[in-house]
Amino acid sequence: PISISDPIEEHRICVCVRKRPLNKQELLKKEFDVVTVLNKCVLMVHEPKQKVDLTKYLDTQTFRFDFSFDETSSNEMVYRFTARPLVETIFEGGRATCFAYGQTGSGKTHTMGGDFSGRAQNASKGIYAFASRDVFLLLNQPRYRNQNLDVYVTFFEIYNGKVFDLLNKKAKLRVLEDGKQQVQVVGLQEKPVGCAEDVIKMIMTGSGCRTSGQTYANASSSRSHACFQIILRRRGQMIGKFSLVDLAGNERGADTSSADRQTRMEGAEINKSLLALKECIRALGQNKSHTPFRESKLTQVLRDSFIGANSRTCMIAMISPGMGSCEYTLNTLRYADRVK
Ligand code: ADP
Ligand code: MG
Repeated sequence: PISISDPIEEHRICVCVRKRPLNKQELLKKEFDVVTVLNKCVLMVHEPKQKVDLTKYLDTQTFRFDFSFDETSSNEMVYRFTARPLVETIFEGGRATCFAYGQTGSGKTHTMGGDFSGRAQNASKGIYAFASRDVFLLLNQPRYRNQNLDVYVTFFEIYNGKVFDLLNKKAKLRVLEDGKQQVQVVGLQEKPVGCAEDVIKMIMTGSGCRTSGQTYANASSSRSHACFQIILRRRGQMIGKFSLVDLAGNERGADTSSADRQTRMEGAEINKSLLALKECIRALGQNKSHTPFRESKLTQVLRDSFIGANSRTCMIAMISPGMGSCEYTLNTLRYADRVK
């Protein structure tokens, strides 16, 4: 156990909110922007907490988070205040995790994976790419250069409680837990990477695999959690691991009353995993000895991220600004509020 004064403990959990801009369709429909982010991140660096306000709608509801990013913030800015502070953790033998939570269409994949599809005018980098860049920057600094550290990445998807390898043609993988409670994803491919550009190729491969071969590409990715990991090893032994998770759309948890049985089951599974995730992060933040990681495949696979003295987590709650999304935005803000 670590002491109260330990600075690591103080910053173990960071919860932030990012609001995306109104999109073309919403502007055409003249949707109201119901979310106000007070104080831009850049101005608030020295403030302890920042506010998100739903002032223009119904009763005013205010939520405070470690950082709040408005619609003008870039992926790099969001990265700098969320995942960037966790990069050192993996060099110090720790486990870092960063979660993107929110409704489908709120910007989770845009923030985490970026857009390499060629549809966007400029290929935009996301947190996966920035974190990889900084891992290699640190690796080449004098204090780490001669430590024989090797970098690997994995990229997998959890869909309806099953794990699929996005770097190996969506091979279905088994999750095993041994007597010592070590959790293993059997056969998950760890790809060796030598530079940040190598990683970009893996992100593109995995992201393509995530949506290809699906009739309703977006529908499928909104129902799965995608996990991208950067792993540091020395002579085969794991030193640190950074897990970057693009979660399933939280509105899918409400599909439990759908007429379609498959959809209902998927909704229940998503609900279960997001609830388990909340409890596991809270347990980490409160230094509880019991972590309910077995409640879902997602938390089981991320078990070692929720335990240990040197585990740190950041959650970015993505919100859509429009009136039409108000209900889900409130749900997202309440969830994020409970995690911190
Ligand atoms: P999600 O993964 O949460 O379902 P996406 O990341 O796919 O949502 O975002 C939905 C759409 O909105 C995409 O076309 C994406 O490029 C766009 N978008 C999301 N966030 C932003 C942002 N902060 N700035 C500009 N466009 C964004
Ligand atoms: Mg997405």
